Amino acid sequence: MRPLRAALALALLIVVGGATLAPAATPPTQRRKRVAPAAQVVYAPHATDRDRQIGEAARKAIGRRAAGAVALDPWTGRVIAIANPRHALANAYQPCSVFKLVVALAGLAEGAITPETRLTCDGGCWMWPGHGPLDLRRALAVSCNPYFEQIGERIGWEKVERYGRLLGLGSPTGINYRGESPGRLPDVVRPSYVGHTSSHGAGVRSTALQLATLVAATVNGGTLWEPQLANAPVTPRARWALPPELPLAALADGYASAVSEGSARAAFETDLVVGGKTGSCSGVGWFASFAPAARPEFVLVTFVNGGNGSRASALAGAIYREVYGAGTTATPAP
Ligand SMILES: [Zn+2]
Repeated sequence: MRPLRAALALALLIVVGGATLAPAATPPTQRRKRVAPAAQVVYAPHATDRDRQIGEAARKAIGRRAAGAVALDPWTGRVIAIANPRHALANAYQPCSVFKLVVALAGLAEGAITPETRLTCDGGCWMWPGHGPLDLRRALAVSCNPYFEQIGERIGWEKVERYGRLLGLGSPTGINYRGESPGRLPDVVRPSYVGHTSSHGAGVRSTALQLATLVAATVNGGTLWEPQLANAPVTPRARWALPPELPLAALADGYASAVSEGSARAAFETDLVVGGKTGSCSGVGWFASFAPAARPEFVLVTFVNGGNGSRASALAGAIYREVYGAGTTATPAP
């Protein structure tokens, strides 16, 4: 073999056997692609077949993604299943636009808006050049930022915070499961940040479990539950009741429209009527939902780390399809 050919052959050998011959830049264990574990699902000790059906649907839908889900009975606070407790209750994340539910209720309760009030979005929104004039239903459906910024600025952070706490943010839910994060709701927000905080929940941290109890309270007539991993039937434990003057029913149209015409539309092609609110920001995605909309069997909050609201609603869509079947007969929304 001529010297040049020999050199080429040696170079080829080094390339082919590169893993062993070439000096490693990083230890082999770090170079190998890490395989995430499959979703872990937690149930009550004697879970019902229905609990397991819902929990297994969540396990299957999540796969190996960095995601979590909580399914909760909104009428009793009984936890049906928790998928990936780390992402569902041990870690708290920015609630993004799910926080708009708090601001909507605060604005309604404080008289800053009625469901019919039209505020104008003429820029500074995720949709250029803005949504134009819109009411609460449409603002929730399309998750319009300026609409909720204006409400926050009108009533001030102190009032937004008060309703956030009433809805369970910033304190542990009291679930009988270890490691729950209390999340975070700031006491003080600089006036110039109140708008941004009101539209995106910046500086706020919540768990999927907290958002599940929040959504449950808005659909069950105002009871904020202490969620329990318990066998059915359960003795419900209320943390408190929301003030009766809080106009919870005013959210119903927004919840329905987010799914039928808004931010979560792509995830739902079944006849099942689902209500919900998406959230997308800072590399996380949420879908806080319930079904069937007319009388919810369960509240489902899905969270995707490294995703957005449409990924989270697609995840919820996969769970609902598995549980109710693709051709479920529609239950008309109220
Ligand atoms: Zn807008």
